[in-house]
Amino acid sequence: MSIRGLSTLPVRLQGSRPVARSFRTVGSGRSPDGAAAPITQPLPDLSENHPRRVVEVVHASDTGAVREAVFAANLQGVPLYPVSTGKNWGIGSRSPVADGCRLLDLSRMNQVRELDLARGIAVVEPGVTQGALAERLAGTPFMLNVTTSCRATSLVGNLLDNGQGVLRLRAEDLLGLEVVLGNGNIITTGAVAQPGHGARCERGAGPDATRLFCQSNFGVVTAAALALVPRPERTSFAYATFSGAALPAVVDCVARLRRERVIDHIFYFGEMQFEPGQRRRPDFTLLGPLLGRQRMVGEALDALGEALAAVPGCKALRTGEADELAPGDPLYHRGRTFLGIPSCEPVRKRFATTSCDLDRTSMRGWSVLQTLLPLEGSAASAGLALLQAGADAWALPVQPHLSSVSDRSLNLMTMIWFQRDADAIERMRGLRDQLRARLGEQGFEPSREGIDALRDARSSRPNDEAWARLKTAFDPNGIIAPGRYVALPGAQPAPRPQTRLAQALQ
Ligand SMILES: Cc1cc2nc3c(=O)[nH]c(=O)nc-3n(C[C@H](O)[C@H](O)[C@H](O)COP(=O)(O)OP(=O)(O)OC[C@H]3O[C@@H](n4cnc5c(N)ncnc54)[C@H](O)[C@@H]3O)c2cc1C
Repeated sequence: MSIRGLSTLPVRLQGSRPVARSFRTVGSGRSPDGAAAPITQPLPDLSENHPRRVVEVVHASDTGAVREAVFAANLQGVPLYPVSTGKNWGIGSRSPVADGCRLLDLSRMNQVRELDLARGIAVVEPGVTQGALAERLAGTPFMLNVTTSCRATSLVGNLLDNGQGVLRLRAEDLLGLEVVLGNGNIITTGAVAQPGHGARCERGAGPDATRLFCQSNFGVVTAAALALVPRPERTSFAYATFSGAALPAVVDCVARLRRERVIDHIFYFGEMQFEPGQRRRPDFTLLGPLLGRQRMVGEALDALGEALAAVPGCKALRTGEADELAPGDPLYHRGRTFLGIPSCEPVRKRFATTSCDLDRTSMRGWSVLQTLLPLEGSAASAGLALLQAGADAWALPVQPHLSSVSDRSLNLMTMIWFQRDADAIERMRGLRDQLRARLGEQGFEPSREGIDALRDARSSRPNDEAWARLKTAFDPNGIIAPGRYVALPGAQPAPRPQTRLAQALQ
């Protein structure tokens, strides 16, 4: 394979550092941090995507080792698939999009490089878990926007795949990145000033490349600067139950309350299950946090309670303080997430396991579609109708979860639970592909993609050619995460594995 771009600097972004003229190769298949683990079996995947062939797993515990891994990949022509903690459950876990990759595991790169408790900024490496950072913040004026996933999940991997904290989208936390590009250059973006250094409070003048590295494959991210959440005087919650028919009206009500700034954070529409053949929309609950000064939160709770109780179909309304929920309360763990404290217990309970190694220990599989809808009752209703049709067609139950992620949009998270046997896996894949296709026909775009969808993607997204050119500039040999959101120029989609849906559509 020809080597291009290793000693040149095709792009020079803020803080970029040229590649060293000479570099040490790490030898065939050797980990920058020691012996590689050869792979003989496909990696276990909770969401049972089509199995991928992984060459080996290597670890890197600092930016220098990441760079060596990138150089080795260029020299040997073996692509790298970086993961932070590899718990991308529901859409592929640790498995790469393409076959034949070397998995670059960054979980040992776990330094909190900077914790600025005056300005509320943390600079973290990929292996820093949400549990570790939340613990460091206990008793400080700042807290973390945590997810409902387990304590051992990362912040960096989560933000690079458009993750969602319970208060706001992870992208809203992101201030800047340090990245090793596919050509070996190290660049910094946004508020990260220089490689190996801390963060400024804001980025300076000029274009900001930070978002280019989210949901793309231009480089390996080795650190991220995150904005922490000022710990509020009061954290309350509202929790209401509604009859199924009320969903469009409740969505419109939440949209109005968001725009009026009565609520500022994400509200969740959950606890619904669509069974095959079900005729009535199931009841659902609405849950969300209110953060701020005592009196302001009190007034917001009053306004919110009044508005929700006035929606026809409101069956119950409960409000309270997150730090007063008792351990046995069904809302206890959700309340703790509003206080910036993540937990493994609900995850294990849901998957009926005693460890967080869900890929290996969960008896049931779990596949997730993430789709963006307008924050409108009619759109939510149309989306849910498609889910019911899918559940009917494939005889599998579907659990939707809607969250108001901005003033304009809802994220529809569609969870498919299934037995991990051949028949149920095939039905799950058929249902997943049908839902993705039908939601797309309604103009509802994915917000996050699973590895099968990325591999099958047709080259039809706007600006694909421009993205491919950027890919070549950052990663001339295409050795970082081939197929992850951005294709190489001229790449053809992989042949589509035959599901019953594909056969039915032929
Ligand atoms: C019960 C349950 C609840 C969940 N709740 C949430 C939730 O509230 N919000 C949410 O967002 N998710 C949630 N998840 C999904 C998932 O567990 C989290 O998103 C988790 O943070 C992703 O795994 P990770 O942090 O290990 O990231 P990884 O798996 O390490 O990374 C995700 C992807 O990003 C890319 N990547 C990672 N690191 C790098 C790097 N350093 N450089 C370049 N590319 C990289 C890779 O392509 C990787 O596949 C939940 C899952 C379960 C089972």
